[in-house]
Amino acid sequence: MELEAEVAACSRRRLGIAAGAALCVVLGCAVSPARQLGLPPTASGAEIAEAERLSLRALDRWIEHDSRLQRVSQRMRVAGRELCGGDVAPVLGLAVSGHGAVPESYRAAARVRFAGAGLYVVAVFPGMAAAAAGVEAGDVLLEIASSSVRAERDVYRPRAMLDPAIALRVLRDGTELLLTAESTQGCAYPARLTIAEVVNAAARPSARETYFNTALLREVHDDDQLALVVGHEIAHIILGRVLRTWSSRRDTEAEADYIGAYLAARAGHDLDVGDIEVFDTLVFGNVDAVGRRSRTHPITSARTLALRETLDEIERKRRAGEPLEPSERSPLLR
Ligand SMILES: [Zn+2]
Repeated sequence: MELEAEVAACSRRRLGIAAGAALCVVLGCAVSPARQLGLPPTASGAEIAEAERLSLRALDRWIEHDSRLQRVSQRMRVAGRELCGGDVAPVLGLAVSGHGAVPESYRAAARVRFAGAGLYVVAVFPGMAAAAAGVEAGDVLLEIASSSVRAERDVYRPRAMLDPAIALRVLRDGTELLLTAESTQGCAYPARLTIAEVVNAAARPSARETYFNTALLREVHDDDQLALVVGHEIAHIILGRVLRTWSSRRDTEAEADYIGAYLAARAGHDLDVGDIEVFDTLVFGNVDAVGRRSRTHPITSARTLALRETLDEIERKRRAGEPLEPSERSPLLR
């Protein structure tokens, strides 16, 4: 019982929501909690409570990884918008989660963590639009610019709007609020966290999305290194959609490295040669489309040398006070 009370209290404390679903554990629900947690029907109350505590911890880790990924990616999308050839969308600067926004294995925990079926704000990034608008963790996002929020894509890539402001309808402690966020444009290529035990990332220009495995988020602790990988994947979409070069050629990898480093630098990441090592941790070097592993090539010494030159080039521009724009003179774009 103590554990159950702790779980319920934890739910309320973290997100300011009623832990209604947690009561199911105590009172019994249509689907037995033991079954929801994958336990045999004979499981004791203590076993169910412990399983629920562990599944909530796993869910919280997922949310932490996703929030970090969104923070790094959304800052880069805004800072790099000029490189995306006008393919932009408002970037709010927040992360959401909910029953339908987590992998199947976290659904039972999500039903405990989140009282309702909507999308809950789980992180608000300082200095970005949502923070300035007064959005808070625990708010349920109901509408963005008069469009209902149903899925994460409605939040991470709201329909392109030219209005300077975006109306956000949120639910906070049972009360609907109308907030106004500045419409900050950024590259229209949101990041998605994928549950996979392979340290890797991918991009899909047709979906205009980038994908990052949970193993990558767990292995790469340095945000500058994560930014290099995020930038590389955003750059693949820029190369594919804006420059219309999309192939498995090694020089495409180098071009993605080049533009990706600029995206990271523009977002304020202070890159040094040690950060390049992050590409050594990517098991397959890179996968150019989700599920396809054929185009795999680990980082080569040539790629490493080219990236070092890129970092030098960026540093020179930064010292000279020049804009951080990829230049045609780069050996990578010859
Ligand atoms: Zn690549």
